[in-house]
Amino acid sequence: PEAVRPGPAGAPPSPAGPSSPAGALDARSVSAWFGERKVLDRVSLEMPAGRVTALIGPSGCGKSTFLRILNRMHELVPAASLAGEVLLDGEDVYAPERRLTEARRDIGMVFQKPNPFPAMSIYDNVVAGLRLTGIRASRAEKDRLVEECLTKAGLWREVADRLRQPGGALSGGQQQRLCIARSLAVRPKVLLMDEPCSALDPTSTRRIEQTIRELVDEVTIVIVTHNMQQAQRVSDRCAFFLAEQGTPGAVVEHGPTEAMFTAPVDQRTSDYVNGRF
Ligand code: ADP
Ligand code: MG
Repeated sequence: PEAVRPGPAGAPPSPAGPSSPAGALDARSVSAWFGERKVLDRVSLEMPAGRVTALIGPSGCGKSTFLRILNRMHELVPAASLAGEVLLDGEDVYAPERRLTEARRDIGMVFQKPNPFPAMSIYDNVVAGLRLTGIRASRAEKDRLVEECLTKAGLWREVADRLRQPGGALSGGQQQRLCIARSLAVRPKVLLMDEPCSALDPTSTRRIEQTIRELVDEVTIVIVTHNMQQAQRVSDRCAFFLAEQGTPGAVVEHGPTEAMFTAPVDQRTSDYVNGRF
């Protein structure tokens, strides 16, 4: 097991500044393989701080793989290998001296299927990441953090009077918002979201989208979505991934969302965003 970065003794998690410019991700010529098979080819993409970047493209073109590479989660796959660089605010996420827990603390992840700890209370779910990443906090600090993070995730009013109930007792949409609150508790600079609404109903989806727009003032967001309306509603920038007949996934085009949807440069982008494949 890997060493956990100790938090400053007794120091509460520092409050996230609303105008903090931190959290710019920059992928430089990232290629990835599973065993012999190349699945991403020289993907270069800047994901600016304080913006929502949407990754779009057909299934199997490497969006999830790319997302996982951004916070070193793909290292969990034994056969996976990588070339290229990922920089967070100019610092190499893969630098040998940079601990995995540090990368994961700075760059949180929310998955398609809501995955709160089902038997753990709502309260304990929110603070679960503190211990894992070596942050110490008093009971009073945790109380404040739980309220703050649940508020940011748009869940506080619904659960304030039942924080001791298990996370698994919530509805799917509430569970996803609990997962967002849990991610926020360690003060990440970036939040990665892999199809966070695909398992949710339209009402829950719209609430998560609203939350995403509210969060982006303090955390950079990278979201994978298959929903073109959602990409247009939530993202500032878009990157279109494609893996053509047996070739590895690559970025065909990227840019401001508005331009990608109204004036795509590449015919394949146009076809995809207009639902022609
Ligand atoms: P997307 O998220 O765009 O649907 P993925 O990143 O999940 O695409 O997958 C990209 C390619 O990598 C696919 O061909 C998929 O089969 C392959 N792949 C994904 N995960 C693994 C894995 N753990 N082992 C081997 N191949 C994988
Ligand atoms: Mg995927």
